[in-house]
Amino acid sequence: MAAAQSLAEAGFRVTLFESRPFLGGRASSYPLREGEEGAEVIDNCQHILLRCCSNLLDFYRKLGVEDKIRFYREFYFLEPGGRPSVLSRGRLPRPFHLLGSFCRLPFLPPEAKVKIAEALAGVWKEWGKRKDLDRLTMLEWLRENRQPEEAIRRFWGPVLVSAINENLEDAAAVHGLQVLRLAFLGRASAYEMGVPSVPLGELYDPVALAGGGEVEVKLRSPVERFAVADGKVQWAESRGERWEADYYVSALPVERMEQVLPELGVRTLDWDFSPITGIHLWFDREVTDLPHAALLDRTIQWFFNKGDGRYLMLVVSASRELVELGREEIVELARRELAEFLPESGRAELVKAHVVKEVRATFSPVPGVEARRPAAKTEISNLFLAGDWTRSGWPATMEGAVRSGRLAAEAVCEAAGVSRRFLIPDPI
Ligand SMILES: Cc1cc2nc3c(=O)[nH]c(=O)nc-3n(C[C@H](O)[C@H](O)[C@H](O)COP(=O)(O)OP(=O)(O)OC[C@H]3O[C@@H](n4cnc5c(N)ncnc54)[C@H](O)[C@@H]3O)c2cc1C
Repeated sequence: MAAAQSLAEAGFRVTLFESRPFLGGRASSYPLREGEEGAEVIDNCQHILLRCCSNLLDFYRKLGVEDKIRFYREFYFLEPGGRPSVLSRGRLPRPFHLLGSFCRLPFLPPEAKVKIAEALAGVWKEWGKRKDLDRLTMLEWLRENRQPEEAIRRFWGPVLVSAINENLEDAAAVHGLQVLRLAFLGRASAYEMGVPSVPLGELYDPVALAGGGEVEVKLRSPVERFAVADGKVQWAESRGERWEADYYVSALPVERMEQVLPELGVRTLDWDFSPITGIHLWFDREVTDLPHAALLDRTIQWFFNKGDGRYLMLVVSASRELVELGREEIVELARRELAEFLPESGRAELVKAHVVKEVRATFSPVPGVEARRPAAKTEISNLFLAGDWTRSGWPATMEGAVRSGRLAAEAVCEAAGVSRRFLIPDPI
């Protein structure tokens, strides 16, 4: 969508093929009971962004939906038993804007806070200078920076695992440090959390995507293959029809590449994936008035209040231990744990529940993977790549996906002899 939007802006005529009946891919929403009129629309999973997601926010602005993202300055943390903590910006200039509330967080002892502050100073010094950050894991980096177990479990884990969808012992340090550098040490507003106030699907509109230009969206239209000959794509095939164009952008998920574009040699088996599990719970009464909270020391990592405190969306990133469990077991575990943080949810009746296990939610950002992510330009002269798994400069996120689309659009423009820049640099 980002590639299409940028190319339409540059005057190209774009045809977008989407295999599903709706736009949005992994960041989409659908009716809870398909086919039922008036059925409740839910997000595939809660998607959040940070104020430092400049390209994503600019993309929303161009679609006219920026006001549908609600930003929060407060990050809530809950301990088992329900004691709340709030991280929020104070009066000090960056990079000290979070320091006041950080010092007051009750769930961390003062020694751990000192160590965390020292490590953050290390991020400030090392980012952009140290060359081996893609070769060591986040946990190795934290140990190198002498972080106590409590700081790892109660601070670094909750902050980083959901941001990069991988455990600290598996994720490359480069991704963790990037998030910390941009979100916590960047502009004072960069850490603010944006939550869509409408179902994700309402953010995408084909007419808005075209702007004043031309984008034709073809839903239920999978591209089955690209015909490659003489180093060029000759046509793309969808639903038995051939489609010819001057330039082709593939924004396929990495696991579809082998099947649709075998010429590029991207093998699914060479990539590891990390799952995310979303648990939707509807109660018969309000169980919280908090908008969201990170839940410490348990399996469930976050809850998001989807409105009136009765419908909560629970999220577990890098959720390998839940993948093997059945729906009932997951709901049972979620209810049991949630009641430790929100006692009212233990007394309330569960009206309904829905579990979404995304086994291949994102590629796993393990050490070494960064070098394997391909750039937008390929060896096929009129074919360009986009998608959160390509070399976007960001982990697999909506910002990463939009960046990749914009980079692909820039590469198409270059091939067409047009000089255009779409990518907004990170706000450092
Ligand atoms: C459960 C979950 C929670 C997440 N939470 C967050 C979050 O909080 N914040 C965040 O920033 N990111 C989050 N992400 C990651 C984010 O959703 C992805 O990084 C982003 O949506 C990837 O976009 P993409 O365009 O690269 O790929 P996709 O969204 O996968 O889009 C690829 C599209 O290609 C279509 N397609 C597939 N095959 C074909 C074909 N042959 N022909 C035509 N079309 C085809 C698919 O239907 C899909 O629409 C989450 C992901 C998941 C799964």
